[in-house]
Amino acid sequence: MDVSQESVPKSHDEVPVLSSYAKNLESHVRERYLKKISVVGVDPAAIPSEQFSSECLPPIEVSDLLSYLVLETSYYTNKQFKAFKSLEAYNQMVSGFVASVQGKEIAGKIVVVAKVRHSQRMNDPLVNIWIIAEKDGTIISAHCLGCKAGLAKSCSHVASVMFYIEAVTRIQGKLACTQAKCTWILPTYVNEVPYAKVGDRLFISKETQRRTGTENRDI
Ligand SMILES: [Zn+2]
Repeated sequence: MDVSQESVPKSHDEVPVLSSYAKNLESHVRERYLKKISVVGVDPAAIPSEQFSSECLPPIEVSDLLSYLVLETSYYTNKQFKAFKSLEAYNQMVSGFVASVQGKEIAGKIVVVAKVRHSQRMNDPLVNIWIIAEKDGTIISAHCLGCKAGLAKSCSHVASVMFYIEAVTRIQGKLACTQAKCTWILPTYVNEVPYAKVGDRLFISKETQRRTGTENRDI
């Protein structure tokens, strides 16, 4: 008699709470999603954001990026990766597209959730992504909630967050959240930038302000 089927629950049973994103996936895509998250037993997209901390990030190094983005997912060729400073994802990171990168230790792994700007338009909604990594920085899997299923495990949003964490690792040294409190974090971009019409404001040179007693002001 084969008892293993009874003692090993299906991935459905191991994941009690699914995000509405996961619930709405097509069944075959959801199966793959469930398989990816089974390593931590929870859906990262269903965990309240206040449970994460920007001080708890895996110490991802360049070799981890290479293993995942080149060898595991073939998102980049080795040649492209060598010229990583020209990559879209790297430039997104440098340009401040990456926002609120936070992590949490779950089941011996580090789950990272992040928000990434979708485009040059500042007020576009942010794209949510998650990454599951070992505590030593090895990337296990990643998912972008804003891209189509086939691209979701490695898109420029996912890659830009990985570049971000790699930069944090270099800046802070290899300090996992269990070892020491991190003291510095890369700046992230501002969520909302209020626009003001140029025409709504009166600009006067300093010289004229002094002469006439008027100031720059809204009109
Ligand atoms: Zn994406």
